[in-house]
Amino acid sequence: MDRTNTCIPLFELTCSELASELKKRYGKGHFHAAAIYREVFYKGNANWENAQEFQNSKKFLKQLRLDLRIDRTPVIATQTEDDVTKFATRLCDGNVIESVIIPMFTHATLCVSTQVGCRMGCKFCETGRMGFVRDLFVEEIVAQLFKAKSVFGANIRNIVFMGMGEPLDNFENVVRSIRVMEDQRGFDIPHRYVSVSTSGRVDGIRKLAQLNWPRLNLAVSLNAPNDRIRSRIMPVNNLYPMAELRKAMMDFPMKKNGAVYVEYVLIKNVNDARRHARQLAEYLAPVRAKVNLIGYNPRTSSPFETPSEEEVDRFLDWLVEERVFVRKRSSKGRSIRAACGQLGGKHVYRGDENRTGFKRV
Ligand code: SAH
Ligand code: SF4
Repeated sequence: MDRTNTCIPLFELTCSELASELKKRYGKGHFHAAAIYREVFYKGNANWENAQEFQNSKKFLKQLRLDLRIDRTPVIATQTEDDVTKFATRLCDGNVIESVIIPMFTHATLCVSTQVGCRMGCKFCETGRMGFVRDLFVEEIVAQLFKAKSVFGANIRNIVFMGMGEPLDNFENVVRSIRVMEDQRGFDIPHRYVSVSTSGRVDGIRKLAQLNWPRLNLAVSLNAPNDRIRSRIMPVNNLYPMAELRKAMMDFPMKKNGAVYVEYVLIKNVNDARRHARQLAEYLAPVRAKVNLIGYNPRTSSPFETPSEEEVDRFLDWLVEERVFVRKRSSKGRSIRAACGQLGGKHVYRGDENRTGFKRV
């Protein structure tokens, strides 16, 4: 994608910003911006040209058709299991990212990617195994929501930044994508339905805190009860040890009754002992936290073992005994590698459909 050209990148602009751009370039404004926003973002229809508002301004329409850039990167593969749909998008430079749609009762949650690969190198994570390739542009992040809506007809209410990549490593683009997604004239996803998950980049958490968005949900992938174990499985802990991370969680602005979501991937014989439950409880005692317990999903050539359901339940009980607010997160989509930490395996794009079950579209 040529990002130096003079196109207007629709998926990177709020409705007011689009209106100012139209004003600056063509002397048009809010009326047309709102129409484009309504068609593309609200209705999920890329053919904004048919909107009534453009029918009497054909010359403007012709020019805008040339100048307006809408992400049209293709969905190249899709796979569904347990109602969970994983889809892969091929980006303009040939890289591939994955997104996951998780239906709830009346609406759905979309798990979006923020980078191709990830530089944090967590030992248990498939994306981490890929290494870092590049940050996603704002439009590539927002396009995942557009596709969930337009290609899959999903009624997305929640956005979780838990796909491929470390969101706080691509801070500016993630923040801008949230601003675009929250615009009421378009996708209309308010902060309270958005969760940003981080492996513990304390600098990023502090920058996010400075925005003072108390309704935005912060999730921290803790995954360990002490520094020794955490540094072993999450290299980021060498830079930002757990005490610093806890301080940042405690300082994060929160609405009344709000909490930080703490993700804890339970890995057999690594962080699943009784004493680990106690240490975790002690560590979290001063934090308003809700723990999400997830059984480790095996990654390719995994060095770790997956705990049984009983073992996950046992650890959950220990945390409850320790008076930790905890719930179990389901591993829906595990066998299609759509569950947490399983995104990014290159094997799925070879077109070996029998082996992977991944359907080309
Ligand atoms: N990079 C961010 C967000 C993406 S990872 C972060 O780390 O928070 C999304 C979640 O999946 C994280 O909570 C991570 O701890 C979890 N995860 C990674 N690998 C996993 C695996 N193999 N099994 C279960 N959860 C995993
Ligand atoms: Fe990156 Fe998150 Fe995976 Fe760690 S768990 S490697 S931060 S995507």
